Amino acid sequence: MSLRMDHDAGSRHAAGLFSPAAAAHRPGDGHALLAPVLVLNASYEPINVCAARRALVLVLKGVAMTEEENGHFLHSARVAMRLPSVIRLLEYRRIPHQSRALSRKNILLRDRNSCQYCATVLPSGELTLDHVIPRSRGGSSTWENLVACCHACNRRKGNQSPVEAGMKLMREPRAFNLHTSRHIMRLMGRSDDKWRKYLFY
Ligand SMILES: [Zn+2]
Repeated sequence: MSLRMDHDAGSRHAAGLFSPAAAAHRPGDGHALLAPVLVLNASYEPINVCAARRALVLVLKGVAMTEEENGHFLHSARVAMRLPSVIRLLEYRRIPHQSRALSRKNILLRDRNSCQYCATVLPSGELTLDHVIPRSRGGSSTWENLVACCHACNRRKGNQSPVEAGMKLMREPRAFNLHTSRHIMRLMGRSDDKWRKYLFY
């Protein structure tokens, strides 16, 4: 049986790097199992974030070991297991450069929940995705043509290109690569002492 990591190319895990947040919408899950866990490569290089539930599975399968615990326990009928905060893969994995799943969630993460036209930062629910070149004009659904956008800018832009609408992108949209991921992992780990030592070097 092959075990897939969230970052594998062609992954069916659409949420990619940030599966814990996606998992949060699943009913019936214990909250502690959704806590984000930092995943290190065998070389201690941070490569991913996953939900505690998935981290536990990786540890139980012998694919990874717990480096830091988060202080919570998973209680079953007979045993209590300590939930990890940081795990490390036991075998080194080569990480392909552009491997994040193209998803609404990952685009909002890449754009840090800010409208790429007016720079307003909004909760995910108040942002939409804008096709820079509209779909009706041949624009594709790709990393390079999708950006986070507030509803006001989306309405204003309508069916026009940014130039036609007199609007300017804050920055060129790019694929979500390991560099982007590392930046976001640092943002997530900034206030977490157990993550910090692996993220800031
Ligand atoms: Zn806007």
